[in-house]
Amino acid sequence: MSTTPVSSAPIVNVESVGKCYGSWSLRGSQKVHALKGVTLQARAGEVFGLLGPNGAGKTTLIKILLGVVRPTSGKASLFGEAAGSPLARSRIGYLPETLRVDRHHTARSALKFYGRLSSMGNRQIEKRSDELLELVGLRGRDRESLKRFSKGMNQRLGLAQALIHDPDLLVLDEPTDGLDPVGRSEVRKVIERLSESGKTIFLNSHILQEVEVVCTRVAILADGEIRGAGTIDELAGGVTSDAVSMDLVFDDQESADRFLNEALETHTDYCLKCEASMHGRGTHRLIAKIPEQAAVDQFVDFLRARGVSIVGLEIKRPSLEDTFMKLVGIPGDLV
Ligand code: ATP
Repeated sequence: MSTTPVSSAPIVNVESVGKCYGSWSLRGSQKVHALKGVTLQARAGEVFGLLGPNGAGKTTLIKILLGVVRPTSGKASLFGEAAGSPLARSRIGYLPETLRVDRHHTARSALKFYGRLSSMGNRQIEKRSDELLELVGLRGRDRESLKRFSKGMNQRLGLAQALIHDPDLLVLDEPTDGLDPVGRSEVRKVIERLSESGKTIFLNSHILQEVEVVCTRVAILADGEIRGAGTIDELAGGVTSDAVSMDLVFDDQESADRFLNEALETHTDYCLKCEASMHGRGTHRLIAKIPEQAAVDQFVDFLRARGVSIVGLEIKRPSLEDTFMKLVGIPGDLV
């Protein structure tokens, strides 16, 4: 995760944004409320992750930020300018989910093409291309046909094209979708380098592990509504307390049963489940959801007073996946 200092000024400011699409068919007109009063901010220097299941409204929100779609209600601004205004657009770099670059290009000629679209001069394009090809690790391959490029190389070229005009905000739509672990890690490193250089990054992804590693803050969108926003720890703290899993050893099955029943009866507030699976000599796994450290200590005392040997103890923090499942309404294991 980036350690770049984050300023408090919102670069992306979305206030109560709603979007209703109308669609018409032979059966009549239909309305789809893709966004229902979405509010969020991304500040300068942040890597902000937008997460949500299919159909949540992520693409619609990105299109609003780019000025391609107009909100039905509310307002969205970038750098204090209305989303879609020429000034706001000139400061955004965008990497779509699937960037189609003509295969007859090389990385260098592709960057020249995109530089010209941004009204850059040849010298400026050449200098910027050198920097970007270095940044995305394509310096030695810049004169090869794109036909020989892997998916990961294409995606890194996509990042370079999004950066050609040196934007302050990068909007990345599923930047590592379809890449293998090596390709993902390469793209992730570029994102981290960009964040360190002070760029603000707004990232739409459904790869939760990646968002967990790379993003400083996230928002979870489901059914057109923000279900939670903040750092990963803030989000996790809002949905669940720590879970402690312990491996316990008993002398025999009878004492194991007796103890497990007693534990479940006396600690109804935080004992969730005891797996009576036997591992070797009477080892049982007990999984408890315990709200604070003092209660963990108390519970360990309770176990020790009954002569139970604790052979392992693990405090398990909820992952972003646990939090995500909870916030979008899919029951998880311990959340
Ligand atoms: P995915 O992860 O599957 O790409 P998403 O989170 O990006 O989904 P959107 O593409 O923004 O979600 O779609 C949100 C809702 O709006 C969906 O129900 C979708 O069918 C609907 N929708 C999107 N674009 C249009 C459109 N142009 N006309 C009508 N409905 C639309």
